[in-house]
Amino acid sequence: MKKALVETYGCAQNETDSEKLRGMLHEMGYEFVNSAKDADLVLFNTCAVREGAELRVYGNIGALKHEKIRRPSMLIGVCGCMAQQEHVAAEIRRKYPHVDMVFGTHALPRFPEILEKAVAGRVFAAENEDGAITEDLPVRRDPPPLAKVPIMYGCNNFCTYCVVPYVRGRERSRQPSNVLKDLTQLATDGYKEVTLLGQNVNSYGNDLGGDVTFPQLLREAVKIDGIDRIRFVTSHPKDISDELIDILATEDKLCKALHLPVQAGSDRILKLMNRSYTAEKYLELIGKVRSKIPNIAITSDIIVGFPGETNEDFEQTLKLVEKAEFDMAFTFIYSKRRGTPAEKMDDCLTPEEKHRNFDKLIELQNKISLKKNKAYEGGTYKVLVEGESKTNPETLTGRTGTGKIVNFKGPADLICQTVDVTVTEAKTWSLAGTL
Ligand code: SAH
Ligand code: SF4
Repeated sequence: MKKALVETYGCAQNETDSEKLRGMLHEMGYEFVNSAKDADLVLFNTCAVREGAELRVYGNIGALKHEKIRRPSMLIGVCGCMAQQEHVAAEIRRKYPHVDMVFGTHALPRFPEILEKAVAGRVFAAENEDGAITEDLPVRRDPPPLAKVPIMYGCNNFCTYCVVPYVRGRERSRQPSNVLKDLTQLATDGYKEVTLLGQNVNSYGNDLGGDVTFPQLLREAVKIDGIDRIRFVTSHPKDISDELIDILATEDKLCKALHLPVQAGSDRILKLMNRSYTAEKYLELIGKVRSKIPNIAITSDIIVGFPGETNEDFEQTLKLVEKAEFDMAFTFIYSKRRGTPAEKMDDCLTPEEKHRNFDKLIELQNKISLKKNKAYEGGTYKVLVEGESKTNPETLTGRTGTGKIVNFKGPADLICQTVDVTVTEAKTWSLAGTL
């Protein structure tokens, strides 16, 4: 059997693309390995959201040069969001002659054909067409209990810092029947928790003629027996409807967790980012969510050092974070992306100032995360057991409905089951408990 390594960078959506690549490879007779040294094919499924991820990919591609000289029959491919960009394809063409194939996000369904051609010579396949959704590609997932299911592709929002709309194309929703078919199959296969994926799930269905909305999809999804928990990411604050908040409040299977990226706390910066809300509107929104779902966990994404952000603007972000009391936040230093409107905007702060602000933000958020987690101490929660802890095989790990990681001692046969765990100790990133 031929051996393949598929390395994934970036978001959950990209992970589901890798599951499809593995599905196609499996059908072509490949098995999977963890090291490039053992692989006949190495595929980098890349992320273009920040420069850091791109540099790591270039570094890892470069590191394979000698392996390719030693074993010329080995095939190397680069796909995903980086590969969708012309300047990246040109860079690889020039500087990385040992790469055999480069194909963008829209070309993914044609992977088998691209791979076949790559045996004869280099293939560059970045298409600019939005790519109709290809259903029924084979999928190779991790074993139960967790599964991710894309419900839509692309993004129409064009936040000025973000490369996603350029590398993923316009919003395209999957037919509800296809999503529900996936969920039914997952339930049959023993999966218990499903995360529905889209860049902005609240606009699900807008391109389907207005016949179906995201809350309507959820209403059907919760009827599927066997799937006990449903999550979704990501929601754009500008598009959250009362209908969504209401269904989140009333349906038991919908996890009481909402990822609601705010990005910044200064109205001036939010406007420059093209986010279509103010800090006050955002706080009002999460106030409303919490009044209807008191113990919901709200998490966020925040960017530090957007072009033009001053220290005063940044103070507004700190103020917002203090008021919002997020359970957790993913924090990023702004990274300039080729072809985005923000690329041309001028900077105010030095890299040192940005890093100082970034550290301040993390310190504040960590304090809040710990405080939020402390509130779990002494309580007993339903935990879906995901597996053994990576650091200690005697410990099991799982999550509460609100998405908190819980570690506790217990037998491995509890994996995939939902158990009651009493939280004994809260940490910044996780909880410890007893069965
Ligand atoms: N569609 C989702 C997520 C998109 S990317 C959403 O709208 O929330 C995930 C996160 O990466 C974004 O929320 C943002 O915080 C961050 N991000 C995107 N582009 C970035 C850039 N150029 N520099 C730094 N962070 C960025
Ligand atoms: Fe990027 Fe904004 Fe679209 Fe999210 S909503 S993917 S941040 S453009």
